[in-house]
Amino acid sequence: MSIFKGRYQTKPKPGDTTSRERIILDVRKDDEVMIMSGEEAGKKGKVLRTIPHKRQVVVQNLNYIWKHMRRTQQNPQGGRLHKEAPLPISKVAVVCPSCGEPTKIARRRADESGAAVPGGVRVCKVRTTKDRKTGKEQTKGCGAEIGAKG
Ligand SMILES: [Zn+2]
Repeated sequence: MSIFKGRYQTKPKPGDTTSRERIILDVRKDDEVMIMSGEEAGKKGKVLRTIPHKRQVVVQNLNYIWKHMRRTQQNPQGGRLHKEAPLPISKVAVVCPSCGEPTKIARRRADESGAAVPGGVRVCKVRTTKDRKTGKEQTKGCGAEIGAKG
């Protein structure tokens, strides 16, 4: 787990790989995620890239913005570009490839033989939730592995 204070973590300086490595997100590149709040809630997409120090992800075909480009030598016209904007990771949930449901991430810290796995293996978290309206308890999550450590 990374230490996260305030809005953004300090961006590691170029060439500094050690502090960057400490920022471990539950969401990874190529994961399928579902947006859980906001205008596009319920939509699913593939993670194109993660921005660990900002705790943001860019999801394919979701959260489009018009980015206004200044005129440059490469792009003398300037103009605007329709592209995906980063989303805070708190707005998305990883879709479990085994049960197909948006899930929370748990980490299994040891393999079958009991040996420690550095960083842990991500698994679909088995959890009980209470329905706000009915008060009924529900079990969610299948416990299957989502992906290798990361
Ligand atoms: Zn699952």
